[in-house]
Amino acid sequence: MGTSLDSVLAAAASAAAPAAASTPTVRAGWLDAVADALDAAAAELIPLAAAETHLPEAPRLKGELARTTFQLRLFGDVLRDGAFLGATVDHADPEWPMGPRPDIRRVLVPIGPTLVFAASNFPFAFSVAGGDTASALAAGCPVVLKAHPGHEELSTRTGAIVREALAAAGAPAGLFDVIHGVEDGVTALKDPRIAAASFTGSVAGGRALFDIAVSRPTPIPFYGELGSVNPVVVTPGAVAARGPAIAKGYAGSFSLGAGQFCTKPGLLFLPAGHGLDEDLRAAVTAAAAQPMLNDRISSGFTQRLDEVRGAPGVEVLVAGGTDGSTFTPTLLATTAKAFAEADATVREECFGPASLIVTYTDQAELLDVLDGLEPGLTATVHGEESEAELVRGLLPSLTRLAGRLLWNDWPTGVTVSWAQQHGGPYPATTAPTTTSVGTAAIERFLRPVAWQGFPDALLPDALQEANPWQLPRRTDGVPPWARNRE
Ligand code: NAP
Repeated sequence: MGTSLDSVLAAAASAAAPAAASTPTVRAGWLDAVADALDAAAAELIPLAAAETHLPEAPRLKGELARTTFQLRLFGDVLRDGAFLGATVDHADPEWPMGPRPDIRRVLVPIGPTLVFAASNFPFAFSVAGGDTASALAAGCPVVLKAHPGHEELSTRTGAIVREALAAAGAPAGLFDVIHGVEDGVTALKDPRIAAASFTGSVAGGRALFDIAVSRPTPIPFYGELGSVNPVVVTPGAVAARGPAIAKGYAGSFSLGAGQFCTKPGLLFLPAGHGLDEDLRAAVTAAAAQPMLNDRISSGFTQRLDEVRGAPGVEVLVAGGTDGSTFTPTLLATTAKAFAEADATVREECFGPASLIVTYTDQAELLDVLDGLEPGLTATVHGEESEAELVRGLLPSLTRLAGRLLWNDWPTGVTVSWAQQHGGPYPATTAPTTTSVGTAAIERFLRPVAWQGFPDALLPDALQEANPWQLPRRTDGVPPWARNRE
C-alpha cells in the first residue's frame, strides 16, 4: 500500500473515536460549515464541474450544488432533532410478564470509518460532498472518499474545501479525505480500518465491489446503488384523458441530462392501440442534442443501445444519433409478447438517452410482463382516479419492483426530504432495507448498542436518566409523542 493511502486510512481510524464522542449538535455545526464553504466557492466549482462533465452550468450544476448544500444542512436538522438515534429506555421491571427485566437502554452509534465511491453522473450531489458523505459524517463516521475519474480535478478541489471547512469548524483531523484510482479504492475497501462502504454506479462495478466487501475476513456492509429501469405504466384512462401531455412528459424525463440518471424511465407501458405515435415522435424529435459525461459512458450506451435495438420485435420510432460529441434521444417500441420472449437485454438498464415503449393488450398481460422485470429504484403509474380498481390490481407488482412509487409524475426528480426513499431490491441496490437519499440515509452508518444494568454516570449522554440532550425517547414502551400528549 502507498504511504499516502496508508496515512489517509490511519488518520480516518484515529478520527473515529473523537467523531463518535462529538455531540450531534456539534456535528451539525461541521455540516453547516461545509455547506457554507461550498456555497462560497460556487463561482469556482461550477465551471470546473462543467468543464469535466459537459453538464450545463445553469440550471443543472447550479441547482445540483444548491441541492448538495441544502442536503448537508438538512442533516444538520436531523442531528439537532435527535430522533435518528432511536434512543430507547426500558427501566428494570420485576413484574415484566416474561420474567424480571433488567434496566436496558438502546441507542445507535457510528459504525466507523466509511469508504464512499463517488458517482460520475452527479458531480456534486452524489460525489465528494454528496449524500453519502453528508449522511456518514452526520452519523459521526470519518469518510474516505474514492473520487470518480470523470471529474478528478473537481473532486480534489471540493475535497480541499471540505477538509478546510471541517478543520476550521473544529472537527477532528483525518475526518475526511479524498483518494484516487481504482487500485487505491480496492485496497481501501479491503483494509480492516474501513467499517462500511457506499457506492453509486454500474451493476458490474457495484457487484464487484460488493463481493470484495462481503468476502473480506471481516465482512462489512456495502451500500451499493446500482442499476434501474424505472418502468412507467400508463392506463387506458390516462391515455384518453391526456395522452399527448404524457408523451411530452415522458420524452422530457427520459432525455433529461442525456438520460444519465439512475431514475430515467427506461420502459413505458402503453395500452395497445394508444394512438400516440405521432405525439411521441414529435416530443422526442424536439429534444435537444446533449453531450454525455465521458467516453466510457457514451461507448457503454452505444453498445447497450445496439443490443436493445437488435432484439427481435423491437422497432425504432425515433432513431437518435451522434455527431461525435452530442447525442439526440432514441425511442424504441415493442409488444409485451415480444418483450417477454426476448432475452434479458431488453429488460436491463440502458444508461443514456433512450427508452423502450412496450404495448400491452390487457391487464393480465401487463401484470405478466411486470412480474418478469427486475426490481429498480422507482415504478410509476399514470392513471385516473376513476380506474382505482385497475390501479389497485397493479400496486402489489409495482411495490415488489421498486422503493419509490409515483402517481402521475416522472421519476427523474428526486427530492431530498424526511420521507424520501431512494433504493430498492437488487439490482437497484445491494441493501434493500436502506435509502441513499433523504434523511433516513443516515441509518446506513449507525449501529445499535444496548447498555444493560449500567450506573447512570457510565451511560452515554443519550441514555442518561435526566436526558441531557432532550432526545425524543421511547421509555418503558411509551413513545415520545404519547408522553407529550399526557
Ligand atoms: P462505474 O464504472 O460503476 O464506476 C463507479 C466507481 O466504482 C468508480 O470510482 C470506479 O473506479 C469504481 N469501480 C467500478 N468497478 C470497479 C471494480 N471492478 N474495481 C474497483 N473499482 C471499481 O460507474 P460509472 O463510471 O459512473 O459509469 C459506468 C456505468 O455505470 C454507466 O454507463 C451506467 O451504466 C452506470 N451508472 C449507473 C448509475 C446509477 O445510479 N444507476 C449512475 C452512474 C453510472 P474507476 O473509475 O477508477 O475504475
